[in-house]
Amino acid sequence: MAHFICGTCGTQYAETEAPPERCLICADERQYVPAAGQRWTTLEAMRRTLAATFRQDGGVLGIGTAPSFGIGQRALLLRTPAGNVLWDCISLIDDAMVEIIGALGGIQAIAISHPHYYTSMVEWSRRFGGAPVHLHAADRQWALRPDACLDFWEGETKEILPGLTLIRAGGHYAGGTVLHWDRGGPEGRGALMTGDILQVTADSRFLGFMRSYPNYIPLGAAAVRRVADSVSGFDFDAIYGAFWDRVIPRGARAALDASVARHIHWLGRGALE
Ligand SMILES: [Zn+2]
Ligand SMILES: [Zn+2]
Repeated sequence: MAHFICGTCGTQYAETEAPPERCLICADERQYVPAAGQRWTTLEAMRRTLAATFRQDGGVLGIGTAPSFGIGQRALLLRTPAGNVLWDCISLIDDAMVEIIGALGGIQAIAISHPHYYTSMVEWSRRFGGAPVHLHAADRQWALRPDACLDFWEGETKEILPGLTLIRAGGHYAGGTVLHWDRGGPEGRGALMTGDILQVTADSRFLGFMRSYPNYIPLGAAAVRRVADSVSGFDFDAIYGAFWDRVIPRGARAALDASVARHIHWLGRGALE
């Protein structure tokens, strides 16, 4: 028996004798099965060839994998006086990572933007004292390793620690979530952690909004406006995306406004210019 992990998206499944027939996350139109076919691995196999990487990204401790694995995102360890939160997640978790993060105070809660980063969330919770994993209930069907640590929250916002609030933005996934940190950002003027929900672009000056990034399926104007409206009541100056160096360190609200206008422009008459 093993908890198999999809090699393409990094999702860990409930324990089975043989690998699942297919990865439900990758079979969905928002992800993809590679032309070479579905691949499976396990944490034990990954630990033989992969190592964790730690570095500051926009002043926040990032946790990634080398070589890159799955979608290639890095998680963030948000360190606050009230405790540490792991924002988003990665598939690899090993003894060295537990020791290093433990020395920084461990993890009191885990929150994840959307199913592409659910990865090995249950393993992470177990290694850190059963920390709750906060997932929006609208994406419940995509939690493929059920466990008591999973907290499916409902509604539009949820404060998980003082100053750290989850916001349901929707868009990319129905339960697409961003995290507002009131003291976050290089100057402490507030930050949004956005995963793929507001995707920081390659130039780190704009944001993209897609139903599928690998398959180039855009979101419509109403969905993009809803994402922007969901965060409009929160103060922030920085935005942290899902990947290394995809950080807008300041002026992020203006970047969001400009990005929404640009996206909607090109959805409409832009294509005729
Ligand atoms: Zn997959
Ligand atoms: Zn995604």
